[in-house]
Amino acid sequence: MASASAFIVPDCSSSSTAASRFIPLNKIRIRRVFQINYHPISAVRWGPKSSLLNININNRRLFSSMALTVASNAETIAKVIDGKSVAKHIKEEISTEITRMKEAIGVIPGLAVVLVGDRKDSATYVRNKKKACDDVGIKSYEIHLPEDSTEQEVLKYISEFNDDPSVHGILVQLPLPRHMNEENILSAVSIEKDVDGFHPLNIGRLAMRGREPMFVPCTPKGCIVLLYRYGVTIKGKRAVVIGRSNIVGMPAALLLQREDATVTIVHSRTKNPEEIVRQADIVISAAGQPNMVRGSWIKPGAVIIDVGINPVDDPESPRGYRLVGDVCYEEACQVASAITPVPGGVGPMTIAMLLSNTLSSAKRAHNFE
Ligand code: NAD
Repeated sequence: MASASAFIVPDCSSSSTAASRFIPLNKIRIRRVFQINYHPISAVRWGPKSSLLNININNRRLFSSMALTVASNAETIAKVIDGKSVAKHIKEEISTEITRMKEAIGVIPGLAVVLVGDRKDSATYVRNKKKACDDVGIKSYEIHLPEDSTEQEVLKYISEFNDDPSVHGILVQLPLPRHMNEENILSAVSIEKDVDGFHPLNIGRLAMRGREPMFVPCTPKGCIVLLYRYGVTIKGKRAVVIGRSNIVGMPAALLLQREDATVTIVHSRTKNPEEIVRQADIVISAAGQPNMVRGSWIKPGAVIIDVGINPVDDPESPRGYRLVGDVCYEEACQVASAITPVPGGVGPMTIAMLLSNTLSSAKRAHNFE
């Protein structure tokens, strides 16, 4: 995850990047490359590739209710992709499925979380995951180990959870303390319980044609599900992913490629990123750089999925800071055809996908359709 050292850019106007190359928005001709549709759901097929996302997208009630969430501000052109609302619907679907499974075969899905150390942000993420489990009826187990624990101790708990039939998903909260080998620990999670999708075998299968991972990493999966639920065509489109981390950028690029987009990855060493981003019909940004993507970087009509969660100083906020994305929202709204807000876009989807992966795992373990 990007660190909280990103407390630097309060608003779009002071973004450190490419300010001198900024094209005034009134010089940009708005042309829609996408028709963002909420109603003709039948046009969106849950094809074999998408089935690995394993989420029901044929939900008319959901789509019609989403039409209400389209931004009402007259100056705003882009539709708001409301991740909070989509996540809420998905959680309701998961809850219904869990009740059905419990009644039919008496099984309750279980998720085990391993937290090492005292990072406040990690503790908050774990608390939020536990609450989300409670909300939908997933049983959660938590092991909290001190910062100076050994790798062996962590591996011992993972091994116990691997052998426990009431645990269907195991999540190791990242980042781990520096003295631990992340690769060793993530590889120790049983591939059948790897609900974060970070096991090298799952990532390898995601990368290979004709192979199916057992799980897809939650944040990238959430991005693709948002595109599906909003009827955005991915096939044949030019997509740019900003960031190449193992947990977001890289798997997001692999997923888009599986969905038949033509994908380019932009990273911290890329020259002229704005020129590359400007070619994209779909942008997924996961750089952890507040307000980096300006309106002038965006192809008119593009769809923007902003994964970035960046704290910036805000003396007016009770906490002294607020969260912004990687994309300058106000500018992007005037150019894009649809955009996720921060907060309320991708963030809620990540937890919903974790719950979805845990339910899928329990269903698979008990051969429950
Ligand atoms: P990371 O620091 O591991 O990776 C950042 C990536 O961005 C790197 O590959 C780097 O090359 C690239 N990058 C950095 N500066 C860049 C620049 N100026 N131009 C182009 N590329 C640049 O971060 P991460 O864990 O992948 O997270 C990225 C962002 O997404 C963070 O803000 C994080 O908080 C957020 N995040 C959100 C969720 C969610 O649920 N919404 C989940 C995970 C991460």
